[in-house]
Amino acid sequence: MPFDLSTDLTQRKQENLFRENQIALSAQGPRMVFDLGHGKKEYLTFCSNDYLGLANHPDIKAAFQNAANEFGVGSGAAHLVNGHSYHHQKLEEDIAQWTGREAALLFSTGYMANIGAINALLNKEDAIFQDKWNHASLLDGGLLCGARFQRYLHSDMANLETRLSRANEKQTRRKLIVTDGVFSMDGDTAKLKDITALAKQYDAWTMVDDAHGLGVLGKTGAGICEALNLSQQEVPVLMGTLGKGVGTAGAFVAGSKELIQYLTNFARPYIYTTAMPAALAAATSVSIGIIKNASEQREHLQNLIKQFRQGAADIGLTLMDSATAIQPVLIGDAQDTLNISQQLKARGIMVTAIRPPTVPVGTSRLRITLSASHDSQMVNQLLDALNDIIKTEKQS
Ligand SMILES: *Cc1c(COP(=O)(O)O)cnc(C)c1O
Repeated sequence: MPFDLSTDLTQRKQENLFRENQIALSAQGPRMVFDLGHGKKEYLTFCSNDYLGLANHPDIKAAFQNAANEFGVGSGAAHLVNGHSYHHQKLEEDIAQWTGREAALLFSTGYMANIGAINALLNKEDAIFQDKWNHASLLDGGLLCGARFQRYLHSDMANLETRLSRANEKQTRRKLIVTDGVFSMDGDTAKLKDITALAKQYDAWTMVDDAHGLGVLGKTGAGICEALNLSQQEVPVLMGTLGKGVGTAGAFVAGSKELIQYLTNFARPYIYTTAMPAALAAATSVSIGIIKNASEQREHLQNLIKQFRQGAADIGLTLMDSATAIQPVLIGDAQDTLNISQQLKARGIMVTAIRPPTVPVGTSRLRITLSASHDSQMVNQLLDALNDIIKTEKQS
């Protein structure tokens, strides 16, 4: 047989790393209906990235419906052909204004934005410096572009500096430091003040992927750059996704007018992809308007984070160094993590078991995510269930 697929699949299963989809029968939210083989059942969910509870927001849905009535569903072509509507243009301007950048460019997904931006900016004459824990799409973008690929130890500034200074000794055209703003599987934030200082010292550019900071961090929810007051000069390439805190779908890169012109002309995943639906762009503009004024929801989320961390510490769980909505509980072994996740599910609580290859071997974890759509009683329910399960595990 020319393609033996079953060996790899069997191995994945034996290692407890096999994955498959669960089919949702209701909208995204803290309570969702699934049929996991025993009939329909409602679950309390702590696994989505809908940090502000906007994915099913009535005003955003109405904007989507209204724009679909006027502009249809399909955009029909790539942006540079005739797929770029009034709503796309407005959304790009809204994003630029919100993030404090001169301009922004829409991509259909965050994965494509990262692949597109990195590959437009770098080639084999260049060097790329990536945090070891960066998202897969950044790592893939870095490998694909052919630049000298450097992965520095997680948030280790000395290690990054050593690598930057070595690159300066060699002939390197462009140097790009790339980092998640909030690390997606750990919830900690990048040391962006230090990174941008090093970038300045070594004549490099900084690119930040703010998939998990957008909506959550900063006074108007514009993300980690707003929270740390980092300008376009300090972070020339700011990437954000629209499918997480923003509650819709798609992504953007924001920066100088020149950068956006450059990406419009050289980023292949921008040029050769059909534009996102105009209605999606219209809905996203409404979402951004809501996010700017969502300080109360952000404060509520911060309170839930505090409540969860305090409660988890009280029952002896191993937390990570995270002050964000991503609150992983470290378990270690992949099978143990899967067991706890399955026991939570039996109690009607959905939490994802994150295992290798997403995270290093021996650091499997429950990736608990909180949202402003949760209330403190839901968090208590999760803590009680975790307490029961872990106590029983210890006794057996
Ligand atoms: C989710 C995610 C992406 C990918 O974004 P999509 O729009 O879902 O393709 C990129 N980077 C990070 C850090 C992410 O968490």
